[in-house]
Amino acid sequence: MTTTPRTTSRTTAPTATAALLPPLTGIGVGGGSAAGPVARMAAPPALPEPRAVAPDDAPAEAAAARAALAAVAEDLEGRAAAADGEAAGVLAAQAMMAADPALADRAAALTTEGHDAAHALDAAFGAFRASLVAAGGYFAERTADLDDLRDRAVARVLGLPMPGLPDPGHPYVLVADDLAPADTAQLDPATVLALVTEGGGPTSHTAILAKVLGLPAVVGCAGAGRLAEGTRLLVDGATGTVVPEPTAGQVAEAAAREEERRRAVARVSGPGRTADGHAVGLLVNLGALPELPAAAAADSEGVGLFRTEFLYLDRTTAPTAEEQRAAYRNVFDAFAGRRVVVRTLDAGADKPLPFATAPGEPNPALGVRGLRTARRHPALLDTQLAAIAAAARDTAADVWVMAPMVSVPAEAAAFAEQARAHGLRTAGAMVEVPAAALRAGQLAQGCDFLSIGTNDLAQYAFAADRMLGSLAGLLDPWQPALLDLVRTAAAAGAAHGRPVGVCGEAAADPLLALVLVGLGVTSLSTAPACLPEVRAALAAHTLDTCRRLAGLALSASDAETARTAVARAAEAARATRTAEPEQTPPAAEAAARTAPAG
Ligand code: PEP
Ligand code: MG
Repeated sequence: MTTTPRTTSRTTAPTATAALLPPLTGIGVGGGSAAGPVARMAAPPALPEPRAVAPDDAPAEAAAARAALAAVAEDLEGRAAAADGEAAGVLAAQAMMAADPALADRAAALTTEGHDAAHALDAAFGAFRASLVAAGGYFAERTADLDDLRDRAVARVLGLPMPGLPDPGHPYVLVADDLAPADTAQLDPATVLALVTEGGGPTSHTAILAKVLGLPAVVGCAGAGRLAEGTRLLVDGATGTVVPEPTAGQVAEAAAREEERRRAVARVSGPGRTADGHAVGLLVNLGALPELPAAAAADSEGVGLFRTEFLYLDRTTAPTAEEQRAAYRNVFDAFAGRRVVVRTLDAGADKPLPFATAPGEPNPALGVRGLRTARRHPALLDTQLAAIAAAARDTAADVWVMAPMVSVPAEAAAFAEQARAHGLRTAGAMVEVPAAALRAGQLAQGCDFLSIGTNDLAQYAFAADRMLGSLAGLLDPWQPALLDLVRTAAAAGAAHGRPVGVCGEAAADPLLALVLVGLGVTSLSTAPACLPEVRAALAAHTLDTCRRLAGLALSASDAETARTAVARAAEAARATRTAEPEQTPPAAEAAARTAPAG
């Protein structure tokens, strides 16, 4: 996480308009704060009135449309070559779409029917878009990429600025409605100081990326659309506030808080523990192999959530057992001596796969997804468990497996039995469905550990699609009802001697991490950049304080009240401890050294 105060050299005195611009609030992510001028994502080009094209002029219009597509493809190829990892793959795939000859031929044919180049391109993309939507699932998900290409090609042919990330020539705060994956893949943390989006929720692509890059961000920020280019903003990812035209005093105060945070983070390292020595496992989330070096380098006890979907995405058939074994082995070797919790394939809903996901489900999030996929395709799970077991053999990593979207105890028990039959000793269930949280005791009896996926648990508890920015408030992980479910699961795990971790985005919020530990959660797994601050928060508070904070959060009636009450009480507890440092009870310290953190 970025902890140094980040301001641009263009920090200036407040302007006369300051009083006219009230602070905005949204969901804070990424922690930290930064100040800088707004640069907005360029808007998609507006199509002018159609021009009737005479037959003689059609070849020139067709050539203009083809040239625009070729230029867009070339631009994306160039950017793919300059990028690495996941970003390179996303850009290369988009470049291939733009270079598809069928698209250029369709646009050219439309010019012979009297359309100008811009409208011919728009209509050609429209036809392709309709067939992707009709194909459904994974293909329908690609429409955002296609829309982005259409905007680029139309802008090119009209001589308008390219939509997408701005390039004002100095560091800036990026303000957008929401960010497409292709945009976020190219974000350069050296020039982008912070992110503010009107859409997006706490588990949106933007929020997850902000954490990976260590950028302060505020998503679901109502009113962000009205922030004008060049307006100076103070963005606080910890409180979720955006202050337009901050005073010099506000910027200095935020910078001082940042400095204090930086010092607190630098003071602690090693295994997670509260101020009185209660052990809390601190682990990292891993979602793709390019993330592996940073994940392995992080000061953590291992991987708490290894999302394996990346092996299956963007392909028409499942990866072979050998292909999977090699990928898992890479990860296990990088984490020799540490734990790696592998989540088996979570296909469906927000992660559809053409060879696994049932087409045409009216409600994919409520359909055959996660572990349920194994009902339709038992071989997928069996092959994956065999590949994990083969990779785990002879490695020094402590390999655990867990199933996503477990709903009933029998599923957890059957999964654990199947994993053990493959020689995998430690098998658990994710708690992402309210029914699983309510029956966590019975789940725990059938397997070795539980891991709470707060992203999906919030989605299903509040009947609120996690992809919808407009429902971000319901998906706020501080919602007391979500915390009730966490408490129920953690207590059930403790009653049966099973560790219960949290691997959803909730674990990355240092203040909420205190509450989760107070609720009985035994480990936290987050993006590597978020771990230091979570570790520092734990080190600054005793388990008793965490329990008191949890009580405050549970007794609140809404997320905002919970967050504010806990922030105030945690700050008071920290100030008291700083004034009179508590003695660590020797017994607690000894127990913390030996107790395994789940
Ligand atoms: C979750 O749902 O909280 C989780 C960790 O899984 P994913 O975000 O991959 O669905
Ligand atoms: Mg999930």
